Amino acid sequence: MTDIATKNDEVQSVDAQISEYYNRLCQRNAGEPEFHQAVLEVLESLKIVLENDPHYADYGLIQRLCEPERQLIFRVPWVDDQGEVQVNRGFRVQFNSALGPYKGGLRFHPSVNLGIIKFLGFEQIFKNSLTGLPIGGGKGGSDFDPKGKSDAEIMRFCQSFMTELHRHIGEYRDVPAGDIGVGGREIGYLFGQYRRLANQHESGTLTGKGLEWGGSLVRTEATGYGLVYFTKEMMAADGKSLNGAKVIVSGSGNVAIYAIEKAQEFGAVVIGCSDSQGWIHTPDGIDLEKLKEIKEVRRDRISAYADEVEGATYHSEGSIWDLECDVALPCATQNELDGEHAQKLVDTGCKYVAEGANMPSTAEAVEVFRKNKIAFGPGKAANAGGVATSALEMQQNASRDSWSFEYTDERLHVIMRNIFRACERTAAEYGHEGDYVIGANIAGFKKVADAMLAQGVI
Ligand code: GLU
Repeated sequence: MTDIATKNDEVQSVDAQISEYYNRLCQRNAGEPEFHQAVLEVLESLKIVLENDPHYADYGLIQRLCEPERQLIFRVPWVDDQGEVQVNRGFRVQFNSALGPYKGGLRFHPSVNLGIIKFLGFEQIFKNSLTGLPIGGGKGGSDFDPKGKSDAEIMRFCQSFMTELHRHIGEYRDVPAGDIGVGGREIGYLFGQYRRLANQHESGTLTGKGLEWGGSLVRTEATGYGLVYFTKEMMAADGKSLNGAKVIVSGSGNVAIYAIEKAQEFGAVVIGCSDSQGWIHTPDGIDLEKLKEIKEVRRDRISAYADEVEGATYHSEGSIWDLECDVALPCATQNELDGEHAQKLVDTGCKYVAEGANMPSTAEAVEVFRKNKIAFGPGKAANAGGVATSALEMQQNASRDSWSFEYTDERLHVIMRNIFRACERTAAEYGHEGDYVIGANIAGFKKVADAMLAQGVI
């Protein structure tokens, strides 16, 4: 009797404690809905940890975890091809360095604001922790829109951005990389300006570099490949495989392209992909060489694919999630898949969802997947292959070495398998077998939390 009463009291008080943290966070970070969403999902998973191990709430641990160590906002002025001055805003949120130097990408997209960078930086803490490698969490970017800009404009923007950022980064301090709108070309211009200002070739300061100057093989493919390795493990847990499976991959950027490549290698038929304007249906599978030519070489829209490939159709109405599939891999951007889309996927028989993008499913969508027992791999676990391979690039830079494709890919494969197993094991340990959201959040959290507790109140 007293036991039950005590237990109920504890449950009550943990609930109340979490609500209090969350309400205060929303007040102090007003107008940042994506950041609130990312924090709430983690806090919900932590209730069960705090019930069992209340010491994780000691020393203001949760409040400290939700408050970035440092947030930088700066002006990025540059001159366009017409000679006009343009002004953008640059960000770097150095969220948590308990496990290692801040690590995370830079996003160049007009939707970027402080709240978006904070949500991405917060997710990055747990993702990086799950990789098992010594990297803290950070994220940055700008509201600069690379679409339609000339090469020279991109270069001038990157040089101006780095002119401010360079004093805040370094191989032991903060190591940026790419994200949406930042690929090999941008990392090249950013690194060039960093090298010039630092007056040294400090290759470990940025990842995603070109292969001739400190880059790693597999880094380009890593997020997409890793996503498919994770999906493969998730299916294997049910005795299923990708061979012959019908797969939807949303997006058509770097993550989507290499997810399609690896899924096809494992025998899947990829029946559709998309861009921000519309989506294509490819019932017989995607011609990957054609897709790469359109997106990577011509930097064209996805509609061009349907114009040029027989059997493919382009749609600007409805959504890619209307297609019937076995596996859905959202690889475009945050909140691209809502509750209705999720219900549609469930109704048409989809059984596996893994996130290649960061937080592409809304909270409602995740709820639908969990209720219907869909195996769901959250981004912070399923897309960790990109940053994990960045950490492998840092290892190669530190030892002035470069590894073969096969060796690096094998390391990535093992890391993704271990991440899946950590999610699986942790979910089961806390009585939520098969709930990889709980598994990822708790496994990612505990390592960072233990490090923070050991290092004192800082
Ligand atoms: N932007 C990627 C991510 O969301 C990669 C970050 C990195 O390589 O540092 O994890």
